[in-house]
Amino acid sequence: MKNKTDLIKQLKHYFGFDTFKGDQEAIIRNVLAGHDTFVLMPTGGGKSLCYQLPALIMDGTAIVISPLIALMKNQVDAIRQVSADDGIAHFMNSSLNRASLDQVKTDVLAGRTKLLYVAPESLTKDENIDFLRQVKISFYAVDEAHCISEWGHDFRPEYRRIRPIINEIGHAPVIALTATATDKVRGDIKKNLGMPDADEFKSSFNRPNLYYEVRPKTKEIDKEIIKFIRQMKGKSGIIYCLSRRKVEELAEILRANDINARAYHAGMDTPTRTQTQDDFIMEEIDVIVATIAFGMGIDKPDVRYVIHYDIPKSLEGYYQETGRAGRDGGEGKCITFYTYRDLQKLEKFMEGKPVAEQDIGRQLLQETAAYAETTVCRRRVLLQLLRRELHAGELRQLRQLPAPVVTHRGARRPAAGTNRDTRHQGELQGQPRHRRAHWYPHRGGAGTQARRTGMLRFG
Ligand code: ADP
Ligand code: MG
Repeated sequence: MKNKTDLIKQLKHYFGFDTFKGDQEAIIRNVLAGHDTFVLMPTGGGKSLCYQLPALIMDGTAIVISPLIALMKNQVDAIRQVSADDGIAHFMNSSLNRASLDQVKTDVLAGRTKLLYVAPESLTKDENIDFLRQVKISFYAVDEAHCISEWGHDFRPEYRRIRPIINEIGHAPVIALTATATDKVRGDIKKNLGMPDADEFKSSFNRPNLYYEVRPKTKEIDKEIIKFIRQMKGKSGIIYCLSRRKVEELAEILRANDINARAYHAGMDTPTRTQTQDDFIMEEIDVIVATIAFGMGIDKPDVRYVIHYDIPKSLEGYYQETGRAGRDGGEGKCITFYTYRDLQKLEKFMEGKPVAEQDIGRQLLQETAAYAETTVCRRRVLLQLLRRELHAGELRQLRQLPAPVVTHRGARRPAAGTNRDTRHQGELQGQPRHRRAHWYPHRGGAGTQARRTGMLRFG
């Protein structure tokens, strides 16, 4: 197989980078060696390159299964930059007309196409399966692989059909990638993709440049958000709300306060959504107010803050959403507004759903509540609840740093003895307080106590 200098040369040649990030090189070598590969890497870690580079190097066409129809064109355009031949990358989804689809097929069959992005819906169509059976496939990449699991936050039933369809099309190694997998989700992915012996590459999920804070949600929330955004003038941010109505309302309020904000949710038509997304990436817009429909796979490196207006439905989802801040390694503030009433509201919404779904929903919600109400360092709780181990070095770092304190009015004060600069570091990294986290706090107990006294501690 390719030796070390070769791979670096290829990296430089195709992408212009001098070094690999994290486990990229080991992962790429594993794919080149033809092994099934499972990649767990946080958002912004550089997962795409793990299949793009081997696809460009290997014989045949890599089939990339990705749920992000809205972004497929961007991804294909990005790959096309590395070659004089546009046929090098294509996508197949429901947006293609007959003529474009014929062009795709011609290029693929001629062996010009190295990467073929396919939406899971398209993969399940008989016509496409018949076509793909004629193709020399280098490997299959399943991006956003957590969509396979009901325990993931973006469950897509069509993802469950990937393995049977791969079997129909023809065997080739599989690389599954996700930024989000608890043990349950990980087990589901491996089982469903039929890759029990896949080599696993797990990166650290501690993102020390992200600062997590939970503020009590009061009537003053809009004012508080406006004040915060004004302090971050000209910087990019995302605000997540649970309902489309709230998204539109808040975007309106922000605009009335001279903040360059735009709404985004799944109820808007596709051209408007695409335009909004592009405008945000191109910095025509500072703030996106959105439902969770916004953000997956969007590669904007300098998002400086992510605010959750409402408590998120699951901690996995929360970790993904906040992970969109600070992809470039710079500062990322993650602020969540929490009130017990929101939790009750979400539980109520679940009442009409099938029992199994309710059970899953409640458990996920419990974790989020435990996170919001904990009195220990939020970074630690987040990582623990997501069952990610912290490396010894990271734990030491956490212990060394001071913890700031939040009061019920959201007024922050630094821990005693910290000057501005170290407080800033403390905000980023925090120090755990050795009190027990309560796991299901919303029927009394320490969580209720914390609410009554109005004092939340975070790290
Ligand atoms: P993920 O899918 O894991 O969220 P992406 O694949 O979108 O992450 O990559 C995130 C960013 O990292 C992109 O801007 C990408 O260009 C950049 N990147 C990836 N690999 C490298 C590398 N080896 N060196 C420098 N930047 C990289
Ligand atoms: Mg990605």
